[in-house]
Amino acid sequence: MLKILLILLSSYLFIFANIIVQKPIPFSEKRVELTKEYIKIHYNLDVKDIKIVPKIILIHHTAIDDFEDSYSRFVSEALPNDRPDIASNKESVNVSAHFMIDRDGTINQLMPIDFMARHVIGLNYSSIGVENVGGEKGADNLTDAQVKANIFLINYLKKKFNSIEYVVAHYEYRCFEDNELWLEVNDKYRTKKNDPSLRFTNKIRENISGFKGAPCTKVTDDN
Ligand SMILES: [Zn+2]
Repeated sequence: MLKILLILLSSYLFIFANIIVQKPIPFSEKRVELTKEYIKIHYNLDVKDIKIVPKIILIHHTAIDDFEDSYSRFVSEALPNDRPDIASNKESVNVSAHFMIDRDGTINQLMPIDFMARHVIGLNYSSIGVENVGGEKGADNLTDAQVKANIFLINYLKKKFNSIEYVVAHYEYRCFEDNELWLEVNDKYRTKKNDPSLRFTNKIRENISGFKGAPCTKVTDDN
């Protein structure tokens, strides 16, 4: 009996340990320092480290249908020159996300879960970012395998961080502007987001429980 239990436990651990693939992006002291500068400029906070207490899981799509192409956007530690929409006149930390889910449902972890990633205006300091590869040219093409992987990851993260309360789509981020979690100090710093699709978000929401949605009611994915 004990032997069977041990076999079951080890196979469970094997599956569990392998279900999240480690695919770290460069995260040297330079990226840490640029992240601290972002926290100072955008949130007016002086921090000793870039650790966060996650309250939100925030779901994205990459708008690129290929994993390596999507991943390559996060490799540079400083923001590249081709992001004039969010660039400032000095060197700034590049965008990133904690996880990137490939089209076959493979979950890749890109950086430490409790480090701040730059993936959403206003809410980086309280959120874990989950990118899904797809949505190129606005296509509503995220897969069922990605739906399942997101559900698994959301439940996994909730077990790891009891502090998590919300599961939110990127297109809903501005619903938090009046929420205590919102930290952006520049009222003009906003971008229009429509990722991921309403269909994809709803499919996830139908299969999770115990989470709050964004604190708004009228936002759709085409606003
Ligand atoms: Zn996004």
